[in-house]
Amino acid sequence: MPDLIMSQICKKYGSVTAVENANLTFETGKLTALLGPSGCGKTTLLRMIAGLEVPTFGDIILAGESIVSKSAEQRKFGMVFQSFALFPHLNVQRNVSYSLRISGVDAAMRRAKAQELLDLVQLGDKGERKIGQLSGGQRQRVAIARALAQEPEVFLLDEPMSALDAQLRGDLQMQLRLLQQKLGITTIVVTHDQREAMTMADQIVVMSHGRIEQIGSPQEIYHKPANSFVANFIGNANLLDGVATATGIRVGETDIAVSDRDEFGAGQRVTLFCRPEAVTLHDTPAKNALPGTVTFVRDEGPIREIHLTTPAGDITAEIPGSFEETVKIDDKLHAILPENLLHLLPERAHDQNEAAR
Ligand code: ATP
Repeated sequence: MPDLIMSQICKKYGSVTAVENANLTFETGKLTALLGPSGCGKTTLLRMIAGLEVPTFGDIILAGESIVSKSAEQRKFGMVFQSFALFPHLNVQRNVSYSLRISGVDAAMRRAKAQELLDLVQLGDKGERKIGQLSGGQRQRVAIARALAQEPEVFLLDEPMSALDAQLRGDLQMQLRLLQQKLGITTIVVTHDQREAMTMADQIVVMSHGRIEQIGSPQEIYHKPANSFVANFIGNANLLDGVATATGIRVGETDIAVSDRDEFGAGQRVTLFCRPEAVTLHDTPAKNALPGTVTFVRDEGPIREIHLTTPAGDITAEIPGSFEETVKIDDKLHAILPENLLHLLPERAHDQNEAAR
């Protein structure tokens, strides 16, 4: 099956630009997560793909053919939304086979297909149950099986797990990902939860204020964010403002060497990015060290988060958790920033002005 492409898609509601110039390719058989804070335009983007909203500008192409003027019914994409409405008066089996009945599939085929899908979502033994007799996670899986019954070319999910508790959400994310890979169905999931996106996606699209900030694999987005918005939105980030040099960046009074300097010219104002788990702490100075004072220690079991103030700005280091209390508030330590794990980003203040628009 061919790729789904969005070309120069814009959506305006009066003076509000919900989506601005989105250019995206959803590869066949892959899962894409649309990720961003509330109001960034993710749902609007998904609804345009579904045919529930008409773009103000741009085209949506499937198999080389524009589908932008087709209705949601004509597109026949599978959909699971935040408030998935199952039919309470029908049992699980009948909920799943409902769309097949509407399309005139005979009873034996409907039953077989529904059973196959229920087996896939691991509810094969719950076909006779009433919807009211299921847990939240089980209902969600019925909604997924029901949406897949018509073998859609594209499967769309809008915050499908937002109503579930953390444990159930984690389990269902894994199950959904395994199911999607098994079926090889092109899937687009809207989420504001970066962990959900990282768990499930082949490709993550990070959005803010209607604009696409970055498109990449979970690894690219995490380890090489395009700007400080993405760096901060995905996981924790150390960001220090400074001036690019021939070998890296000058932050405060310290020169920090950076292997991957990108395209920034010496003298340009830039922001240094480093994940907390890349920072190591030493008693004595070394290359790429910032002298600091410990301001807070947070023990999270597997990791220990240590906050320091340095002349160049605040730094957080994550080190393996330990039973021993080896670091205390007011300790003087050197935060070592490893040259090969640092990146320069466009100056942060610029991003913030952009974000405030
Ligand atoms: P959330 O995570 O809160 O659902 P979202 O990222 O999905 O947010 P959208 O629902 O796509 O965001 O909304 C994007 C912007 O468009 C918001 O500013 C929203 O207020 C606006 N918007 C969405 N739908 C409409 C509408 N029907 N009329 C006017 N403005 C709208």
